[in-house]
Amino acid sequence: MDEGPNIRPAQDGFRWEGVELLAYKEEGSAPFKAITRQVLFQRPELGCELRYFEMQPGGHSTLERHEHVHAVMIFRGRGTCLVGGEVREAGAPDLVFIPPMTWHQFRASAGEPFGFLCMVNAARDKPQLPSADELRQLKEDPAIAAFLDT
Ligand code: MN
Repeated sequence: MDEGPNIRPAQDGFRWEGVELLAYKEEGSAPFKAITRQVLFQRPELGCELRYFEMQPGGHSTLERHEHVHAVMIFRGRGTCLVGGEVREAGAPDLVFIPPMTWHQFRASAGEPFGFLCMVNAARDKPQLPSADELRQLKEDPAIAAFLDT
């Protein structure tokens, strides 16, 4: 992989020179809505990657869990995060940590894009999606049910 230049100027619209705007995930691989991905740093010396995800108003990431963790800094706008049993509004530059095997999802508020930086291990396990049973259990919490039905 061409690791590219050491210095990449930012461009308008939360883009960076030479950084490709990618689909969040492969279409149909998992539920998500109106979200894009940019890989900002992906170098073998790091052992981790830094990505920038951005949702349009009303967009959301996948509800998932996995063994690897995420270190997230909200970078643009405001939205709502689910981390385990907790549903909280968050905005730039709040920090969000996703522990191992913890259900998590990000949802943009209406009216503005919602973007976050996400640091993750380069070598990582595949995300798991909730079964119908696990989804039912999550929704027993009214705050989580309201969040998921937004
Ligand atoms: Mn995840």
